[in-house]
Amino acid sequence: MSGLNIGVFGIQGDVAENINSTKQALDELGETGNVTLVKTPDEIENLDGLIIPGGESTMMGQLSLVNGSLKKIKEKIESGMPVFGICAGLILLSKNAKDRVVGKTDQPLLDILDVHVERNSFGRQRESFEAEIDMPEIGISDFNGVFIRAPSISDVGSNVEILSKYNEKIIAVKQGNIVGTAFHPELTVDGSMHKYFVNLIKQSKLN
Ligand code: GLN
Repeated sequence: MSGLNIGVFGIQGDVAENINSTKQALDELGETGNVTLVKTPDEIENLDGLIIPGGESTMMGQLSLVNGSLKKIKEKIESGMPVFGICAGLILLSKNAKDRVVGKTDQPLLDILDVHVERNSFGRQRESFEAEIDMPEIGISDFNGVFIRAPSISDVGSNVEILSKYNEKIIAVKQGNIVGTAFHPELTVDGSMHKYFVNLIKQSKLN
């Protein structure tokens, strides 16, 4: 049994925390698999699922453009691989990103999740906060959402499901096998979001 082959995009950001949370999710679900840090197109090629962590989306986009991994991730998503973008990862997945203060950004994007995101939507570092989040469509409630220089989603295409809002702003979405959250589930003890993603990967392998 080979199990699930899950990657955490490791150019920059909250990488170790996501590896830990995903390993814990596999354990708690009784699934076998590997969770590895991936950076290069070759490492991404054989994945069953990928997490793009929080960090700094401009930096992540530029470095992944240069090493070819941005293109490889896009190909894999287009061929059905589940992907979970967290904060900067959500921004990288989007079709359009602008900053709340400086406006349009010319950053490289995967251009695949049909949303417009507003970076730093809740203010900058000092405005980071925690809030209780409900995502009834995916069976998660009372989830501790940790927001760190978080984006929000200002516009969604018709194929995008809104999973959650906070203060009228969209903060979690799903489009097929693409999931994005503005908050950081790897920074809370509740593993339900990572378990949800592991199950999505498992499901997609069965199809
Ligand atoms: N503000 C960051 C960006 O725009 C994202 C913050 C985060 O991932 N915690 O890239």
